[in-house]
Amino acid sequence: MSDRPHLMIPGPVDLPDSVRAASGAPARSHLSPTFVDSFGDALRRTRVLFGAPSGQPFILAGSGTLAMEAAAANLIETGDAVLVISTGVFGDRFAAIAERLGAEAHVLRAEAGETVSFDAVAAALERHAVKVVTVTHVDTSTGVRCDPAPIAALARDHGALTILDGVCSVGGEPLAQESWGIDLALTASQKALAAPAGLALLVASPEALDAWSRRRTPVRSYYVDWGNWLPIMEGYEAGTPGYFGTPAVGLVAALAESLSLAVEEGLDRRMERHRLLGAACRAALHALDVSIVPVREEIAASTLTCAFLPEGIELGALLPAVRAAGAVIAGGLHPKIRTRSFRIGHMGAVDRGILADTVAAVEEGLAACGHPVRRGTARRALAEVFDEAA
Ligand SMILES: *Cc1c(COP(=O)(O)O)cnc(C)c1O
Repeated sequence: MSDRPHLMIPGPVDLPDSVRAASGAPARSHLSPTFVDSFGDALRRTRVLFGAPSGQPFILAGSGTLAMEAAAANLIETGDAVLVISTGVFGDRFAAIAERLGAEAHVLRAEAGETVSFDAVAAALERHAVKVVTVTHVDTSTGVRCDPAPIAALARDHGALTILDGVCSVGGEPLAQESWGIDLALTASQKALAAPAGLALLVASPEALDAWSRRRTPVRSYYVDWGNWLPIMEGYEAGTPGYFGTPAVGLVAALAESLSLAVEEGLDRRMERHRLLGAACRAALHALDVSIVPVREEIAASTLTCAFLPEGIELGALLPAVRAAGAVIAGGLHPKIRTRSFRIGHMGAVDRGILADTVAAVEEGLAACGHPVRRGTARRALAEVFDEAA
């Protein structure tokens, strides 16, 4: 273990050395050839990572919430109906954003740990003529993963666009935006992409751009209006930079490096690595007699694990104990289970060794809080999952 504890929260995450180096490079003009190359590379690699060969990427300075707001503001007009499929806090956030834009939000809300059934989505689409359906790929407050492809197909049958919040999935869960029929997918730099916090990434399908171009009213946010950014993004990809708002020069360079690492690793291998991290983390927690928030194994995310605190153990005691044992993990976020749950992020550059240290730290923290554990249990359960897959 290094002197610094592993940062195992659901973002920001630890940075690979080359990404850290890229983010610390000297300041450059946003029009310099070096920066134009990195921005162009970042845009091209974003398209690859999202599986959207005909998509239009946008990379804006801001967090994941800005990506959500940019998606909604460009596609939604006052009076539009929106169907929000909510598996936690971030689904509910989409409803709030849509309402702020004057839309009528119909929310299908799952219990914490559950998904919304396909039949419920189908029934809602029969009942309401919606313009946009929003889905959270992995909700970071519950650790629940949705299957977006069938929902996007259904939405398309009803003439609705699909927005996928992939802030906690892109780079760690398989995504084929174009073949799944997702009109807009979005993420942020600080989660499974393992870049510094501060960039919002969106990829719009041709259908999404078409819907935007046929708006009756102007986009209600000046900063995120695609009309301002489209020529800039096209320009950087073509090697002809322009100016609308100053790009986050250092962050874009770091993102270009992190996307390059992802492409070099190979997307299939990267997703398989994350799948194993998720399975191994859950196995280790089960072995410690800790239960997982997602109610079925097949809806549990690969990028983070949400688990219930054992009876009688408090977050205020567990988190510092785990930190002292070498890993920073997070408390609960979903309002219904906030004080009864904790979350471990395992995305980005995390490997078997880092996760093994982490589950051992959780074991030690639990033991320090009085939870009965036999030492070495978590590491053994984790090793079984990895060895079986090898
Ligand atoms: C983190 C997260 C967000 C919000 O991103 P910020 O960068 O914190 O604004 C939105 N959706 C999901 C699924 C997230 O995990």
